[in-house]
Order: sequence, then structure tokens, then C-alpha cells
Amino acid sequence: MSLPYDAPVSQTLFDRASLVTPGGVNSPVRAFKAVGGTPRFMVSGTGPYLTDADGREYVDLVCSWGPMILGHAHPEVVAAVQEAVARGTSFGTPGEGEVALAEEIVARIEPVEQVRLVSSGTEATMSAIRLARGFTGRAKVVKFAGCYHGHVDALLAAAGSGLATFALPDTPGVTGAQAGDTIVLPYNDLDAVHAAFRAHPGEIACVITEASPGNMGVVPPGEGFNAGLKAACEQNGALYISDEVMTGFRTSKAGWYGVDGVEPDLMTFGKVMGGGFPAAAFGGRRDVMEHLAPVGPVYQAGTLSGNPVATAAGLAQLRLLDDAAYEKVDAVSAEIRSLITGALAKEGVAHRLQTASNMFSVFFTPDEVRDYDDARKQESFRFTAFFHSMLSQGVYLPPSAFESYFVSTAHDAQAVERIAAALPAAARAAAEATA
Ligand SMILES: *Cc1c(COP(=O)(O)O)cnc(C)c1O
Repeated sequence: MSLPYDAPVSQTLFDRASLVTPGGVNSPVRAFKAVGGTPRFMVSGTGPYLTDADGREYVDLVCSWGPMILGHAHPEVVAAVQEAVARGTSFGTPGEGEVALAEEIVARIEPVEQVRLVSSGTEATMSAIRLARGFTGRAKVVKFAGCYHGHVDALLAAAGSGLATFALPDTPGVTGAQAGDTIVLPYNDLDAVHAAFRAHPGEIACVITEASPGNMGVVPPGEGFNAGLKAACEQNGALYISDEVMTGFRTSKAGWYGVDGVEPDLMTFGKVMGGGFPAAAFGGRRDVMEHLAPVGPVYQAGTLSGNPVATAAGLAQLRLLDDAAYEKVDAVSAEIRSLITGALAKEGVAHRLQTASNMFSVFFTPDEVRDYDDARKQESFRFTAFFHSMLSQGVYLPPSAFESYFVSTAHDAQAVERIAAALPAAARAAAEATA
């Protein structure tokens, strides 16, 4: 495919990076493998904009995959970080910042009575699953195809969506033993969940699900799905773990819990709560959380957990996220969605725009997407053309057809105008694309 323009400085950096780092990146999707072309090396961000090493500016619709809900370099977050950094960057002792951040999370999310801070979403889900196994004395974990919970060995088993399939590892390096206790089920299929509980009585420690999946594109839970999961777990003595690493403090003040009100036993958080720093958390029922060391026997720890700089950033960001902020993000998301769908419809491009509050994604298929198999039926080649057209016109979309788009309070009328200006040509490119 011939690309609209190249990015010589990014290309030089990418060449250098590829010599010393596998694939030139520290997280695979950044490499643009799904869409081709040169990944843009960013040098700065302000509000809704990113600037790359070639000096081009983009309206950012990725927002660091969710965390930058106030936009880049928000002055109050920057000030809080600067103030914290100047006092020292890590003590290896408890500190007030982590107490305040934990209090903020507990205050916002009713089912969270206690919380433990960690440094990544992966650590949060890994620890939550260990705790669920330690609490219940059971081994098996149910997850759903298309849901991503970080690169936890047992949770990378996403292949196969048959009824109660015992998953084979999706990636070399995950052993059969590590994945063997993972049961992968099709998303939005409660019958499959009931069947798994019948097939494995007394063996399932927990069901883990994205509160509203955003890692196969945005595929919200059907009416009653999360409530049905919760009920099935309760009936069978298993824990219901809601992974809100993406949706937490993003889809509402109380994340997806604030939208559907289904009370999980454990929850995981990351992305928004770190304000752009490595801070994440898991929390929930006090009687479950008190099984963690040093109160209980389930071990979990971290040298940089509750880091003073990361907690200062997270706390500053959460304190700015009031009702007005969410109204703003929801409104600009709706505006951008209607521009996208209008432009694609005008060019006759079959598509489906799915939303979960202010998260959304565009599937290049006319049909509703309810699970991972549906998502994979889309015409991804149309997304590739759409993506590169938008990129060449200064709009940065997630570089894969299976990701959510993210907006921020900083996406103002000028940013929206730039998106609107880029859309007609991008929609035409999508219409004309061939497989
Ligand atoms: C991003 C994400 C994770 C992993 O978080 P990291 O900080 O990248 O380790 C886990 N679960 C969900 C739902 C996510 O979106």
C-alpha cells in the first residue's frame, strides 16, 4: 500500500529502536503492524494534541489508550507531579499520597471497601486472580474470548470460543499448566457460563470480565449479562471480578459500576487512575481483601507500589474529574461519533459504531458486534485505509480496528473541527479500499 506521506525522523528513530528493542517498541500495538507504515514517535502533547518527531501535530483520539482523560499536560496534574517529584521520588515506606488515592477510590466506588495499589493493570488482574484462588481454595478461572486483562500468563489464553473450551495458550511461553485452569467462553453468552459451572462443580474460583469490553473494539455487555454473571458466581461460590482497568473513572465517576450498578466481589483499575503514570489497583470486599499479606496468607507486593509521584498524578487527575468533566467528555464523544458515522454513511461505507458511555469504536461491518467472532468478521482493510487517511490529515486514531477510541475534556471545538475536516477524504478512502 502506498502511504500518503512518510515521516523521516520517526522512521530514523524506529530504525534505531528496532536494533535495540524487539520490533522497535515496548508494547506491540504501538508498532503499527495491523495498519502498516511508520509508527509516529511523539515528542510532546498538550490538551487534545500530540506532536511527533517530524514536527507534525495530531488530534489525539487514543489518549494513551485511555489515561489522558483531561488531555495531555493538564496544568494542575503537571503541578501536582512537580511538587511531588521535588519531595523525592520513592521512599519504600507508606506515604500519605497513597492513603488519599485509596480513599478517593473507595469513596467513588461503593463495592470497593479496601484497595491495594500496584503499578500496572496487568499486576492488578494477576493479583486479583491469585487472591480469588487463595480466598476460595479453587483453581479454575473463567474468562471471555476477546477480553484482555493484561499479559497475565493464565489470562492470555483467549483462543477458542467453544462451550467450556479448555484454552490452549495463545502465545508461546505460556505453558499448558499455566493456561490449563483457564476456561474461555464466548462473550455475552450466559448459557455458556451456566454450562461451565455445571461441568466444573466446586472448581471455579472466579469469573473475570471486562466491565464493558473495549479490547476487541467496544462491545458492551448485553442487557442483564453482568448481573447474570454476578448471580451465577454467587450461586456457585465463585468470585465475580470486574476488570475496570479501561472503564474505571472513564465511563463515569464510578466507572462502569456507575453505569450498570452490578456489585463485583473484586475490581481492577489502572489507566485513568494513574494520570499518565504507572499506578493501578485492585480492590473490593473487605473480607476478601483481608486475605492479602500482611493480614492474610496471600502474598502480593511491589517495590514501587503506591509510588508518591504516580499517586500524586492519579489523585490530581481524579479530583478534577467531577460531574461536569464527564458531561464534557460524553458530549464531545457524541459529537465526534456523529461526525464519523455521518461521513461513512455519506460514502455508503457499511459500519457499526458501538459505544460504552464516552468510549466508542467503529466496526466496518453492518451487523451488531456482540462477541469476538462478530468483531473479527469486519472488513479491517477498510479501517486501514481510514486510519492512514486520518493520520495523513493530522488525526491520530488507535492503530488497529479492534481498539476503542478515547477522548478527553480537552477536545474542544477546534479539535472537533479538525476531525470533521479530515473525515470526508478518510470515508472515501474506506469506501474505495479493497482487501
Ligand atoms: C489496559 C488493560 C489491562 C492491562 O493494563 P496494563 O497497565 O497495560 O498492564 C488490563 N485490563 C484491561 C481491561 C485493560 O484495558
